Amino acid sequence: MKFVSLVASLVFSASFTAAAVLQQLQAELAPHLSQNDLISTISPPRWSSFNAPLPGAVVNVQTELDVATTVKYLTANGIPFLAQNGGAGWSSSLDLNSDGVLINLASLNHVTFNGDKTQATIGGGSSISNTIAQAYAAGALVETGTCNCVGTLGALLGGGYGSLMGLYGFGVDNVIAVQVVTADGEFHNVTATSDPDFFWALKGAGPNLGIVTSAVVKSYPTTQDGMLAWTGTLTFDSSQLEEVVEAIQDLELQPDMNLFMYFISSGPPANEPVILVRPFLYKGSVTTGRAAFSSLYAVGPTRDTTAVLPYTQWNAGADGFCTYGARKPSYGVGFQKMIPSTWREVWNSYVEFQKKPTAANSTVLLEAYSLTKARSIDPNSAAFPHRNVNFHVIAIPWYEDPSLDDQAQAFGNAARDLWRATDQLAQNQTYINFAYGDEALEVVYGDSLPKLREVKRRLDPSGQFSHWYNIV
Ligand SMILES: Cc1cc2nc3c(=O)[nH]c(=O)nc-3n(C[C@H](O)[C@H](O)[C@H](O)COP(=O)(O)OP(=O)(O)OC[C@H]3O[C@@H](n4cnc5c(N)ncnc54)[C@H](O)[C@@H]3O)c2cc1C
Repeated sequence: MKFVSLVASLVFSASFTAAAVLQQLQAELAPHLSQNDLISTISPPRWSSFNAPLPGAVVNVQTELDVATTVKYLTANGIPFLAQNGGAGWSSSLDLNSDGVLINLASLNHVTFNGDKTQATIGGGSSISNTIAQAYAAGALVETGTCNCVGTLGALLGGGYGSLMGLYGFGVDNVIAVQVVTADGEFHNVTATSDPDFFWALKGAGPNLGIVTSAVVKSYPTTQDGMLAWTGTLTFDSSQLEEVVEAIQDLELQPDMNLFMYFISSGPPANEPVILVRPFLYKGSVTTGRAAFSSLYAVGPTRDTTAVLPYTQWNAGADGFCTYGARKPSYGVGFQKMIPSTWREVWNSYVEFQKKPTAANSTVLLEAYSLTKARSIDPNSAAFPHRNVNFHVIAIPWYEDPSLDDQAQAFGNAARDLWRATDQLAQNQTYINFAYGDEALEVVYGDSLPKLREVKRRLDPSGQFSHWYNIV
């Protein structure tokens, strides 16, 4: 009885705080925005509901100036805030509560190209699907992530892995200029020459320093043929795991190739755990694709959905992975070598978790790219510290029932420990956008941390941008 009344009073006090924040914003901030009706209580959807931010109010900014006005007001009034772009971030560090405000960037979704299509300006709220659709219409390629729902700049600011990495480097390697609002509500147009340290820091730790309202990135004009790739999925069963793992380890990815491997459900009603490999060959045909990935074909896939697809369809195979909602605490790790015995142990724990009620969609995702181009770029040009890492993997317990939280954590931690134990790295490294949220700062920021601390002290001295692996 006592417990019930404590819960009731907590709920009451959270909704009271939320109502007070909303009222204050409507009275004091709304009149200064581009429209009077931009403040609401409805949060935009998030990819994972596990530990999701629960703000008291949402500001649905319509213009870049709205972002500056909102940030200036919130900082001056000591109100915590967080920007949301694609809403795909799952980090447990995203701890915004009912006394805080979410700044929804979704309307900043413009994507424009310069005359010769060698530069694209991307709005701070443009999703990857929107950026690709605009690039396709313009006849150019832009280096984006591989899932349509993710924020283009949300992914890029952490580093930016994507299908064209072997040709053009990481997302951060393609940035020309960044328009960013800092904690004082001021705009900065940051380039390599205007403020080299800020420019460097934005490329790996951007969400810690400000809100990027738009960024100018390199784009690559091309022909219709240059907008085709051979991709799809190859299915394998559990007994083939070691052979698949060895084939991936031995495969020398060329700049036009990359590869994902999933542990995933075969789909309802059986929901059998299977191994999927998603090969990708830029400008590939059925013949060249099969030849480039012949070692995987030699293992004997039980199903093959590969085909030549246009640029706008390259990410379509991952649309299921983009489904919003459900609980998905996710555990990323970087490592150097595919070791069959490690993968067999992870498979066993995956199978145990995946068969639990509501957990059938649980996934393990491995990403492998050609890194020659990315490693030819000066490592000191960006704060992103993981150019040396060969493979990235994420264990994603995916379920509806909150009573599975502890078991999900046990599975995620067990998988992460197994990969870390055989990572062959001098110290654990995890791509910030794939990390769980509890990692030491050195694990996500690597050797960039001391200099990032200096930049953070200069540009966000009161720590307004503290919800994404806060640099302290
Ligand atoms: C289904 C899925 C697929 C993915 N695929 C890829 C991939 O192919 N390549 C890859 O590199 N990563 C990928 N990721 C990881 C992804 O990059 C991170 O989750 C990223 O943080 C998501 O950005 P978002 O804008 O969608 O999320 P959000 O939750 O909106 O943002 C995450 C963090 O970034 C900040 N942020 C976002 N936009 C801005 C901005 N404009 N200015 C300042 N801060 C900002 C937010 O404030 C928040 O702190 C994927 C994740 C998922 C869930």
